[in-house]
Amino acid sequence: MKSLTEHLWFNTKNRIDFINITDKVQDLIKKSGVKEGIVLVNAMHITASVYINDAESGLINDYQKWLKELVPMDKNYEHNLTGEDNAYAHLMRTIMGREVVCAISNGKLDFGPWEQIYYAEFDGQRKKRVMVKIIGE
Ligand code: ZN
Repeated sequence: MKSLTEHLWFNTKNRIDFINITDKVQDLIKKSGVKEGIVLVNAMHITASVYINDAESGLINDYQKWLKELVPMDKNYEHNLTGEDNAYAHLMRTIMGREVVCAISNGKLDFGPWEQIYYAEFDGQRKKRVMVKIIGE
């Protein structure tokens, strides 16, 4: 069995940002030499998510509007009584998820026609990372 573990680092300009990381994950699959296997991609922070959906810019804006409606950034959250101001970011992360697991077939991400992997940052402007773990043969 082959395996590869690497981290992708981010430091977003905006506090909330969405980044398509599909090509970066595919590059790591190539580096791993795995032809048949599984890749796990997970945010290593509790205020960021990794999810799979369409790379359509209108949809990315829709996600941001929808999340801000569900989870207003400036509400009086109990978590913010600790001196933090990122309660909304923890809640958004829970909605959008922690990780994705994808099949690797013939050395490539085995995706449906519009599936893309996204890193969703909810409390950025600082260094944060995503782990990519690839296993297979
Ligand atoms: Zn916090």
